[in-house]
Parts: sequence; structure tokens; C-alpha cells
Amino acid sequence: MRFTISIILGLIFSLSAYAQGHICGTHETAASLKQLKKNRELLDQGSLRSAPRYIPVTFHLAAENDGTGRIAYGAVLDQLCKMNRDYADLEMVFYLSEMRWNEIDNSGVYNNPNASLNIDNIVDNKDPNSMNIFVTENADTGGNSVGVTLGFYTFFNDYIISRKAELVDTSSTISHEAGHFFSLRHPHYGWEDAPWEESVHGTTVTLTTVGSSQTGGSSPVEKVDGSNCTVAADLVCDTPPDYNFGITSGGCNYTYEVYDCNGDQIFPQVNNYMGYFGNCAKYQFTQEQGDLMRIDYDSPRRSYLRSDYVPNLNVVEGPVVVNAPAQGQTVDFFNSVTIEWDAVANATDYLVTVTGNGQSTEYFRDTNYLFLDDLEPNTTYFYFIKPFNETSACVTSPTQFFQTNDAQTSTEDIQAFSDFSLFPNPLYANDLLNVSFSSTIGTKAYIRIFDTKGALVKELDADVVSGNNSILADTKDMQTGSYVFNMTLSDGKSMSRKFVVN
Ligand SMILES: [Zn+2]
Repeated sequence: MRFTISIILGLIFSLSAYAQGHICGTHETAASLKQLKKNRELLDQGSLRSAPRYIPVTFHLAAENDGTGRIAYGAVLDQLCKMNRDYADLEMVFYLSEMRWNEIDNSGVYNNPNASLNIDNIVDNKDPNSMNIFVTENADTGGNSVGVTLGFYTFFNDYIISRKAELVDTSSTISHEAGHFFSLRHPHYGWEDAPWEESVHGTTVTLTTVGSSQTGGSSPVEKVDGSNCTVAADLVCDTPPDYNFGITSGGCNYTYEVYDCNGDQIFPQVNNYMGYFGNCAKYQFTQEQGDLMRIDYDSPRRSYLRSDYVPNLNVVEGPVVVNAPAQGQTVDFFNSVTIEWDAVANATDYLVTVTGNGQSTEYFRDTNYLFLDDLEPNTTYFYFIKPFNETSACVTSPTQFFQTNDAQTSTEDIQAFSDFSLFPNPLYANDLLNVSFSSTIGTKAYIRIFDTKGALVKELDADVVSGNNSILADTKDMQTGSYVFNMTLSDGKSMSRKFVVN
């Protein structure tokens, strides 16, 4: 642990040199170099097998102690979409682990994930059977550095940290750190802390070795002719030399005229995921980078990622068709609103984000409707729906809106129902409660059972069909006493009945 802390402190001092720089905080250790060399050796021996690789991922969403500041789940799903787009050519598929995500309410982890106490907390939160990505406010320590570390991978503790601001479509930070996770180095390896400068290195670079706090030692300077590509820089032969030109280039273009020690002109690959050139329209991994990552996935170190499980690879495609409320509609009640949409092919889950009065709430559903009973009267609400499954999360509905009025749900009987009965009544604990009625309409219903103090005891969703209906409600674990049965339809109409458990 102490070792990890000391190299991270080294990083902080190096950061301040690049006030405007966007920097990756991944450091190499002797162990990570050993792993990369082993992977390189296996690649050279032709050991790569062709098969898709499935990578379970757990996102750990950190927040302040009081739970504020946490990134939205919608942004996490967008990131899963982006990772799978970025790795699609490599036949590497990320899927949500069984745990999917984990919330950590800890201001230390959120603001200062590198402090030793917080590292311990992060390690305790890791899921042992997935790639662990922690999303925090800061990726550097203390937040007092003017340089910005966007994220890092720690080989020692084997997890990725990303600033939450990086979970946007325009940032490839997590795809870059996943490259480090699977043993890749920067193409400009060795030049991290001291990028090429004309006044220092000249237009013909005669330096033979470079080193930095991130390398922990010196490394040969890579030549254009490929003669030292398996031992220099990233040990990758199809990434050309890069003397960290990206950090001062200020974008996705390379305009310097620089020559290596042989006098060969250098043309770095500006749009490589592992480089420091920013704002490229499209990034890529090279063939060899992909091969090295696949070999790393197959290595004993990564056995915990591998299983016989094949994730759901069906692609969730839009559009998402919202049926109710109608766009801009003023709904009948403020305390009983059902958002309903068409089921989306291949989606197993939906995330609905509802925003009103400056507050945003996210709801997960595995059905294609959402009942809301906690909205404010006379308020405009905006919402959007993201259908997803464990590998596919690229679709979002257009933003919809509706307006609440100030009426509360009526508890009058529903006109469309007749012959309504609840039986047996009274019933004995562990009996099934039978709800029987006839309906002139088919609709969704939301059933809730309250105790006499108004506390919600049970809830269930039901499909009402046109014709005779019989719904069974399990009353297991319900104490002796009086209860209120309430059923609300997707149009907001509602009815209640009392019943007794003896
Ligand atoms: Zn990096």
C-alpha cells in the first residue's frame, strides 16, 4: 500500500507542470511491465486465439457522505454504450455484472480517492468477478492541483478511477483506462512528464532513453524504422513513435516537424485511444494493441473475468414510442400519473428520468410503464426513457413533458369496472386475497395495500383485461388488522376497499 501512495504523490508534483493538461494518472510498476512483456512474448509466438471476449463491469458511483453529487445512472448507461462502440472492432464486449452498480456515499472516496484510507474503502467495495470502475468527483488528490487527472488504472489494486465529468460521449477516458487495464501503455510511453520541446530536444531528437515518474525507469526512445519497437515505448510495433506531441498540440492535429535519431521524420498516430491528442472525431486501437488486450484477457491474471456466461448480445434499437401522457398534456391528477410507452425490442430494463421543480429522479423499471404518486401540483415535468439490456444501452427517447394540475386522485369507484369483490374478507394470514371484477377496458393497474396508518405494506402491478378479471394478492407476512386495498389505473382513476386480516 505504501508503495502505491508514494508513486501517486509523485504524480501530483508532475501534474503542476502542465496547468492546462489533461492527464492520465496510470503508473507502471515492475509487475505491470512483466505482464506486458509476457503478453508481447505470447503475441510473437502466435498464441492469440480468435473468439469474442466478454467483460463483466461493475460501476461504483461515489457521492458525498449525504449521497449528493453522484453521477446520473443515465450517464453510466451512455458510457456502457460508448465502451462497446469503442471496443466493437476488437470483439471485446463489456456487460453489466450481476451487481451492475454500487453506490458509495463517502466524501473521501468521492473527492480524494487516492488517500490511503479511501483506497482501502475502494478496495473493500470491489466486486471480485468484474472489471471495477469507480466514478468520482476527482481523480487526483485534494483537488488543489491545477492540472487535471481525468482517470487512472492501478495495476496494484486492479481498478479504474474516472472523474464523473469524463462520462460524456466526447471523452474516451474510460476506454483509454480500459486499455491500461488490459496491459497497454501510452504510445508516448516515457515522455509523460517531459514531452518533446524544440528548445530542449531539438527537431532531430538524439536522446536515446527517456523516463518519467510514470515509467519508474528509463526506456529506449522509439525509432521510426521499427527497429526497436518491441522494446521501446509501448512495445507495440504498429503505433508509430510519439514523443508526447499530443499534450502541447491542443487538438487532433500534428503540425511539428520532428526527426528521430536516424533522421526519419516522425508522424505519430493522432487518433490513438492511448495517446494524448484531444478532440479527434474518431479514435482507434491498432491491430496489435487489440491483440495484446485479448491476450491479456486470456492471461491467468484475468481469470476472474472469464466464465461460460454469454451475455445478452441483442441490440436495443429505438425509437421509444411514448403513449401517455400525451406530449404537453395537463394530466388529471398530480399524485397519480402513469407514464406508459411501447415495449422496446431486446430491452430488459428501462431507466426513466423525471425532472421538475429543479429536481431530477431516476426510476428503474422492468415493465413498460411507470406510476408516479409523488409529483407536485401545477408543475411541468420533463422526462426521457432509456431502454437497455446488459450490453446495449445506446437508445434514449426524445425528452417529453407534461403538466400536473392541483387535483388529487379520486377514490371513487372506477366506471369501467363492475361486480367488484375482494374475498375472502376477513381473510386469514397467508390466505390469498382474490380481487375479482369485470372491466370494459384493458389497461395497466397498480395495486397497493396500506395499513390503517397509511404505510405501504405491499404493491404489485397487474394487467387488466377487457372482460372478467381475477387477480391474486399474496398476503403472506401481513399482521392481523385492517388494511386498505387501492387500485390505480394508468389514466389516474383509482378505487379503494377495506379488508381485514384475522
Ligand atoms: Zn493513460
